[in-house]
This record gives sequence, C-alpha cells and structure tokens, in this order.
Amino acid sequence: MPATDALVLCENAALTFGRGTTAVVAVHGADLSVRAGDRLAIVGPSGSGKSSLLHLLAGLERPTSGAVSWPGLGGSADIGLVFQADSLVPALDVAENTALPLVLAGRPEARRRLSVTEALGLVGAADLADRLPEEISGGQAQRVAVARVLAQEPRLILADEPTGRLDHATGARVLDALLVAADRTGAALVVTTHDPAVAARLTVRRAMRDGRLLAPEDTP
Ligand code: ADP
Ligand code: MG
Repeated sequence: MPATDALVLCENAALTFGRGTTAVVAVHGADLSVRAGDRLAIVGPSGSGKSSLLHLLAGLERPTSGAVSWPGLGGSADIGLVFQADSLVPALDVAENTALPLVLAGRPEARRRLSVTEALGLVGAADLADRLPEEISGGQAQRVAVARVLAQEPRLILADEPTGRLDHATGARVLDALLVAADRTGAALVVTTHDPAVAARLTVRRAMRDGRLLAPEDTP
C-alpha cells in the first residue's frame, strides 16, 4: 500500500528529552503508519516511551530526528485525543464538556452529523448529561472523554492509557466505548497501555521496550 494511504506516518522518528549527559531518548527511530480502520495497541511497561510516541503521532511533540507526517488528515481537528484521566473541565456539566471542542471550533449543532446526545448515548452516558465532573466516577468520566472525541468526529483517535487508573471491569467499558466510537465514526484507533488484556482487544499490537518500537513479529 502506498504511504499516502496513511493517516499518520512515522519515518525513523526519534524523540530525545534534554541534552548531553542528561539526555533521555524516549523514542528511538520509530517506523509506523496508521491507516483508516486500524485498531492498534502500543503496549509496554511504564517508561518504555508509549506516551512519547503517542505525542509524536498527535503532533504534540516534534521529532528530534526523522519525520512525522499526516498525509491522510486535513489538520489537527481530525485527531481526537483521550488521556488517562482528569481531562474534563470541572465547571462544565457533562453535556457541555462533550460539546466543548465543537464550540471552540465554531461548529454549530446543525452542521454536526452526530449530536452531543447521540455521542453520550453511544458510550452509555446519556443519563449523565446534567452532572458535573465531580458528581461522576472515574470510569464514567473516561466514557464522557470518549463521547467528547466522538462528537468531534475525528479520523484518528489517539488514547493514552485511557484505562490506566481504572479497575478491569470499568476499564473494559471504557474500551468498549472507544471501539464503538471508532466503528461509528470510521476513525482509526491507537491505544497505549501497559495491560496485555487491554491490548488484546485491539486488532494489532506493537510492543515498546526502552524507547524502541518492536516489529510486529517481535511483539509478544
Ligand atoms: P510511558 O508512557 O511508556 O510510561 P514515556 O513516554 O512517558 O513512557 O517516557 C519515556 C521516557 O522518557 C522515560 O524515561 C521518561 O522519564 C522520559 N520522559 C518522558 N517525558 C519527559 C519529559 N517531558 N522530560 C524528560 N524526560 C521525559
Ligand atoms: Mg505514558
């Protein structure tokens, strides 16, 4: 498949923090492409470079060497981000939090294919619409974070340890929500995790060890 099919493309992309003797190579030259429909888990222990790689894919960090490009995306609005926790705005209720990226982007309700109500419904959080973040559980907050991404209708969803602070059952529901979100919008999905049970729910797995992204055949 030609590289232009890629939504995001890493070519020998490396990320180093600091300089000289204190430099930390968080990502050694990584080659990776993510295409429409992909369901990819980046799996590895804490400190292996998963978040750093995801930040490169998101454009939140520039590679120190090598290149990251987004040949199949129109811009950063095509990327939906889900973090580990605490990403909701405390003063806004769940419906307002879900609508926030659309409001900030100036996209009126009439131009959205998927309403905030539908997005909350798809992650099983419709009944939480009027609650404040402090009035819902951590697992519920993560599902709302997924609904917020859903409402944005991105073409690439990047989730950094979205289940990292949740018990297995709650985490499984958040993962359900992410998979539903990706299926409903047709977005590609990349999830980082240290949990093999979470990784097993994605279609493809790539391991990270000490900043190195292992080849598919070397991934356990
Ligand atoms: P993971 O997400 O797998 O836990 P990270 O990508 O967060 O791994 O970190 C990879 C390595 O990069 C670690 O050694 C970490 O300490 C280092 N690192 C991450 N972010 C920074 C930063 N902003 N400044 C310095 N070092 C960092
Ligand atoms: Mg991390």
